Amino acid sequence: MLDRFGRTIDYMRISITDRCDLRCRYCMPAEGIEKVAMSRILTYEEILRVCRAAAGLGITKFKVTGGEPLVRRGCTDLIREMKMIPGVEQVTMTTNGQQLAAVIDELAEAGLDGLNISMDSLREDRYRSVTGRGELSRTLSAVDEAISRGIRTKVNCLLQKGFNEDEITDFAAFAFEKGIDVRFIEIMPVGFGNPEDGVPGDEALEMIRAEYLGLIRDEAVHGNGPAVYYRLPDSKGAVGFINPMHNSFCGSCNRIRLTSQGQIKPCLCYEEGVDLRPALETGDEAVREAIEKAIRMKPEGHSFHEIEKVEPRAMSEIGG
Ligand code: SAM
Ligand code: SF4
Repeated sequence: MLDRFGRTIDYMRISITDRCDLRCRYCMPAEGIEKVAMSRILTYEEILRVCRAAAGLGITKFKVTGGEPLVRRGCTDLIREMKMIPGVEQVTMTTNGQQLAAVIDELAEAGLDGLNISMDSLREDRYRSVTGRGELSRTLSAVDEAISRGIRTKVNCLLQKGFNEDEITDFAAFAFEKGIDVRFIEIMPVGFGNPEDGVPGDEALEMIRAEYLGLIRDEAVHGNGPAVYYRLPDSKGAVGFINPMHNSFCGSCNRIRLTSQGQIKPCLCYEEGVDLRPALETGDEAVREAIEKAIRMKPEGHSFHEIEKVEPRAMSEIGG
């Protein structure tokens, strides 16, 4: 479906839980996050109804996220069911990878089309400090397991000043060696994120260019998102940059979000959205109309630089 600015909206991110097994300091710090009551979280049946209605409106690509999607039991079954909905072309997942190894065969068998694995450091001590409790080795082996099964895998690295800037070229080497995409992301002022703690993507690009003189822009389509990619002339892997604070990519925004509590968010930046709960109680046509309404509400662009207008809820509830 087209929104009022003529953009094609064909992609939905679905947060299936606000819970997480990690405590990344910019997302879900150890203190200050209240869990949403389980009774307020959409059931899988409700999520599937939303997916069916969305598919009827031309949304063909879905991303399952959270919180950490793998902490919710039955996540693989949800993905299997989503893949069977007529019109659904692609279902992918964003995960921290900590619990991936145990379910990766099931996920592959369910038809998962791709994985984004978040990893902000390649050093065990730093990984633990940024995630509060994570084990780097688990996420690293998850990356290898995914690659060895031929699942399209990308690593997401949130750039943090004074924390992982000195690992930017290590991450580039990781991308080129493993033959996967590593995307560097600027911190957005959503939830506990403070852009002042971030690093501009262009600075990261310059560091990589200084190390890899042959770096070239990669115009190939790598996925559904706004990343801009670079690679070496002979590399399979690439580095991507998602620079929401320094590059507005809103003109080509193709997405809406479903929060774990059933709100359709037209834009990550703003709190406004359409609560699907009344529609879910009314019937499937009402769900479809509510999604249409949310798409029509999509703003022309974000205003991350006007902090008072920005979404105050935690990223774990919205889904990133
Ligand atoms: N738990 C999963 C994971 O970490 O991949 C999925 C949910 S997490 C909210 C999705 C992504 O959002 C992660 O890559 C995380 O780094 C990113 N994220 C969280 N807070 C952010 C912020 N304030 N600005 C930019 N990205 C953020
Ligand atoms: Fe959990 Fe992902 Fe948020 Fe980290 S970024 S706390 S792994 S939801």
